[in-house]
Amino acid sequence: MINANTLYSALAPYGFETTANVCYGSWRNYAVSILNAQYSIFQLSFAVRADKKDKDLAKGLRAELRQQLGKGLSTVLNLGSALQFAYRFDGKTPLVDQFVRAADAIAAALSAHGLNPAATCAVCGGGTPDSLCVVNTYQPVHAACMHQKLETAKEQAMENKENGSYLTGTLGAILGALVGSLIPILVLIGTNVISAFLYALVPLAAMFGYRHFKGKSDKISIVIVMLISILFVAIIDFVYLAHLFQQYFHASFFQGLSLAFQNLGSLDQWFDTGVLTSDILKSLLFMALGIVFSWGYLTKTSSAEVKTTATLLETMRPNPMFSQDYAQSENPAPQQSQQFFWNGQG
Ligand SMILES: [Zn+2]
Repeated sequence: MINANTLYSALAPYGFETTANVCYGSWRNYAVSILNAQYSIFQLSFAVRADKKDKDLAKGLRAELRQQLGKGLSTVLNLGSALQFAYRFDGKTPLVDQFVRAADAIAAALSAHGLNPAATCAVCGGGTPDSLCVVNTYQPVHAACMHQKLETAKEQAMENKENGSYLTGTLGAILGALVGSLIPILVLIGTNVISAFLYALVPLAAMFGYRHFKGKSDKISIVIVMLISILFVAIIDFVYLAHLFQQYFHASFFQGLSLAFQNLGSLDQWFDTGVLTSDILKSLLFMALGIVFSWGYLTKTSSAEVKTTATLLETMRPNPMFSQDYAQSENPAPQQSQQFFWNGQG
């Protein structure tokens, strides 16, 4: 397994830097970011301006690059603002050599497809982006656009702090969870099976509701959303129980509900409680999975947003393509020579 830090530090002589878990720099004028996907597989993202709807582009690039790079190259994704290549490094040859080979092949293939290095701002789309910055991937941007983004995030956080309300948020979360719960319930009624994975929708729908009802966005909001999610998962499970009673007695759905309610204390007389317990555990498990998968969204509170944007700003560097413009701005460009400092390794 290739350690991310080993790869990242091996690329330092080429001017690549690392912030948090992302490594970023320029390669043949492409803004490139590198992220460890899993094990020895790294996502290499090259900033371009591609047509996101072009399905054949990624396919074509993959086929061409596999001929040159072999099975080390797995998936190719067209993100529109970047093309993302999943590449597996091995421990046989120096990492730098592998990167240079892969990055050169990718840059050549992109160029052959008419995809030049992105030359417009990833935020506003305008020309002459004076800087490079990690946005989702490493992208050319206007420094002013990124500062504006931070200001907006700060203003929104301030606005939310002053005007956000736990009460309206909780109301929104309940409505959201209600809608999120209707889906597994309707599927249950329609198909007679409970699809456990649909429980994963509940926390997501609850947070969506919370946000849209001007809920105060902080850590407490996450707790509120989770509690409401658990409550609604319990409600879905109760409806599921009512459905079992309804089928057992060939009764109506509402009779099923009332039977479920009356017999809540003596379920073992009617059903295999082992199966019931496992169904309930399954529902909680899938709800938890929903929380795990949407964690990024759930914890995207307004103060976290400010922090994230501020962290992104730390990755901002002059865009070598337009460095002249950058030199005239407030922040002086760093010495070019340090980008090609060799430490004798690799
Ligand atoms: Zn811009």
